[in-house]
Amino acid sequence: MPGILRQLSGLGGCTNPVRLAGHRTEHRLNTTTGEIGPALRRLNSTDLPAGDLLVRCGNRRTTRCPACAETYRRDTFHLITAGLRGGKGTPEQVTTHPRVFATFTAPSFGPVHNRPGPRPCRCGARHTPDDPALGTPLNPDRYDYESAVLWNAHAGMLWRRFTIHLRREIAHHAGLTQRELPHRARVSFAKVAEYQKRGAVHFHAVIRLDGPAGGETAPPHWATPELLTDAIRAAASRALVPGPVLDGRTHTFAFGPQLDIRTIHGPDFPDGQALTDRAVAAYIAKYATKGAETATGTLDRRLRFVAELATMNLPAHAERLIRTAWALGARKDLEHLRLRAWAHMLGFRGHFSTKTRRYSTTLGALRTARAEWRRLQAAIARGDDPHPVDGPDEKTTLVLAHWTYTGTGLTPTEQWLSASLADLTAPEGDSAR
Ligand SMILES: [Zn+2]
Ligand SMILES: [Zn+2]
Repeated sequence: MPGILRQLSGLGGCTNPVRLAGHRTEHRLNTTTGEIGPALRRLNSTDLPAGDLLVRCGNRRTTRCPACAETYRRDTFHLITAGLRGGKGTPEQVTTHPRVFATFTAPSFGPVHNRPGPRPCRCGARHTPDDPALGTPLNPDRYDYESAVLWNAHAGMLWRRFTIHLRREIAHHAGLTQRELPHRARVSFAKVAEYQKRGAVHFHAVIRLDGPAGGETAPPHWATPELLTDAIRAAASRALVPGPVLDGRTHTFAFGPQLDIRTIHGPDFPDGQALTDRAVAAYIAKYATKGAETATGTLDRRLRFVAELATMNLPAHAERLIRTAWALGARKDLEHLRLRAWAHMLGFRGHFSTKTRRYSTTLGALRTARAEWRRLQAAIARGDDPHPVDGPDEKTTLVLAHWTYTGTGLTPTEQWLSASLADLTAPEGDSAR
């Protein structure tokens, strides 16, 4: 393969790579004398076919880089799946632990067009499922945009408050003190944030109850999906975050009354209609690659000036949410919410996916494994020994590198070559879809 194609194929389809100029050398380090030996390997960006080192952008969003978002989606799928059925360091016995899939929503900020299908909506009209009116307010002038944006801005805190209450409620339902709980059971979860069409963040979470040391220990006899469900319900209704007082109005943030909790069953559960771990993982992974833009038609990047909005032709509801965030962002008393920086996210600045340490493997571990796999493949393709005896060793190898950022993206020629590469590569089997 010509050099440029080989370099582009290393990007795995990333269309928006980071370009770096500079060099990297590996030296043998004498650990007794501290002497640095001559360079064992060198990499200089000027020697590369593209003239720069190209690094995958790693963007999570489908609208920014479909290839990198796909990688992120698959990693998320594996991470969620590992926590549900074991694998990648998590024991398989987690399938026998109580596990639920829960969806937490925001409260109402005013009536919206919310009924697609043959039955008429509250506005009297019938909406097709793809009608852009769905999720938008019946009366925009009476919709509480301020609370909608502030709720998003506090959603991450509300989730943390919920997790504290959840541990208390589990202890309470099991007849234990809060101090006893960690010696008997441990709660693990993974969650993703998603935007509803109305622009409010909601959370989907897998919540699992383990024994005291996590997935490898059996949960106590009282740990059932029913107890977990009751505890989640109680904790969700107790979780409150006090908000700011704006123009004489005191804001307090809580989850909305719509709370859906379903038990996750293992693959051999007899009922074909049951919610399986596979379906849950696919569902969560799908949302991990979306931002506000896919649900509400808003922006996928930061806004620098509010005047930019005039040229963007956004849906009116999304634009009004962004303008509200921008306006609130000017207030000194809301400075900590950084509403201007997160206006394009409709105020939400939390993480899109989070998990507790013991839920399963980490995205970092999956990335390291993939990088190692690619390194071996590249070595095999070059005809090198993939496990050289004198290969780099963290203890005895000194890496000297200096890189400077020269831009992002591909040149028109590289784009064309990259697209022809994508056509050549047979589509991979997709375990996540
Ligand atoms: Zn990319
Ligand atoms: Zn309607």
